[in-house]
Amino acid sequence: MPNPLTPQVLADPIALTRALVDIESVSGNEKEIADAVQEALEACAHLRVERIGHTVIARTELGREQRVVLAGHLDTVPIADNFPSTVDGKIMWGCGTSDMKSGTAIALHLAATCPDPRYDVTYFFYECEEVEAVRNGLKIVGDLRPELLEADFAVLLEPTYGIVEAGCQGTMRARVRTSGVRAHAARSWLGDNAIHKAGEVLRRLSDYQAREVEIDGCRYREGLNAVSIKGGVAGNVIPDACEIEVNFRFAPDRSEEQAEAHLREVFGGYEIEITDSAPGALPGLSAPPAAEFLALTGATPAAKLGWTDVARFAALGIPALNFGPGDPNLAHKPDEHVEIDKIEAGAELLRRWLAG
Ligand SMILES: [Zn+2]
Repeated sequence: MPNPLTPQVLADPIALTRALVDIESVSGNEKEIADAVQEALEACAHLRVERIGHTVIARTELGREQRVVLAGHLDTVPIADNFPSTVDGKIMWGCGTSDMKSGTAIALHLAATCPDPRYDVTYFFYECEEVEAVRNGLKIVGDLRPELLEADFAVLLEPTYGIVEAGCQGTMRARVRTSGVRAHAARSWLGDNAIHKAGEVLRRLSDYQAREVEIDGCRYREGLNAVSIKGGVAGNVIPDACEIEVNFRFAPDRSEEQAEAHLREVFGGYEIEITDSAPGALPGLSAPPAAEFLALTGATPAAKLGWTDVARFAALGIPALNFGPGDPNLAHKPDEHVEIDKIEAGAELLRRWLAG
C-alpha cells in the first residue's frame, strides 16, 4: 500500500491529522503508523532518523546552541465505533483526534517542513503511551539511549485545548494501618478494635488543609485523600487490623522523599507503607526556549494536575510543558473530536517559535 503520508499531506497539518487518525494504532499495534512516519521522515534530507521498537526519532543536527524536543505518541486507546475519521464543518471526529494525533500531526508537519529551525530539534513519535509505563516508547528510549532525550526544553503535544500546561504534580499512594487485639464480639472488652482506631486516621484526613503553591506563575493545588479502606474478620469478631489507602497528589516543589516525609508526619503514630510513587515536574519556564515560547503564546500557563510524560524530561532536568490542540476532556471518549481551527492555530504558533 502506498504511504498515505505524502509530501502534500505532510505540508497540511489538518490533512495530516486525518491521515494519522485513519491508520489504526491502538497501543501495541503501532507498526503500520510507525513505518509510515519513519518512511516519510527518511525522505527529509535535514533529519537523521532512528527507530527503536515502534518509536521513531528524528533529529536536526545544525549545530545550534540549544536543542528542543517536540514529542507525540502514536498510539490510541481502543476504538469505540469512532474509526475512521469523519469531518463535519470545522470539527474532525474519530479515535485519537484529540489524544493526540492532532498534536502528533503538528510535530510531524514541522519535522517535515521546517528544515532550518532556530534551535536543533529532536522529534519523538512514540509507542504505547496509553498503557503501562514499562511499554512506553519514551521510557524505553530513555532507558536504552538516554542521550537521545537530552535537550534544553521539551514540548509534548498532548491535548491542552491550545493552552500551555506546565510541569505536573507528583502522586504517591500509601497504606496507613491500625492494629488492635482480636476477640469474640460477646467479650469485646478482651479485645481492642482496630476499625475504631481508623476513626482518628480519617479525622486527620478530613481536617487536612491541602496546600496551594505558585511556581513560575502556575498554581498547584495538592490533595490528600483516602481512596479505600479495608478491615474486619467476621460478624462476631473484634477486628485486630484495619488499613486505609491514601493518595497524595503533591506539588512539584516537593521531592518524592519530602512527600513521603510529609505523609509520615501527617500519620505520625501509625504504621505506614508507601506502595507507589511518581515524582512531579517543575515547570522550569525560565529556560530561554521556554520563555520565548511563552512570550509567543501571550498567555499565562496553567498547572498540569495529572501525571504526564513531561515528568520524564523533568527527571532529567529538562523543563517541559504540554501544549496541544485537542481538548483533554474529550480524550478516551467515543465522541472524541478536535476543532480544526485549534490544529491550525497550534501549528502556526509552533512554526513561528521554531522559525524565529
Ligand atoms: Zn495522550
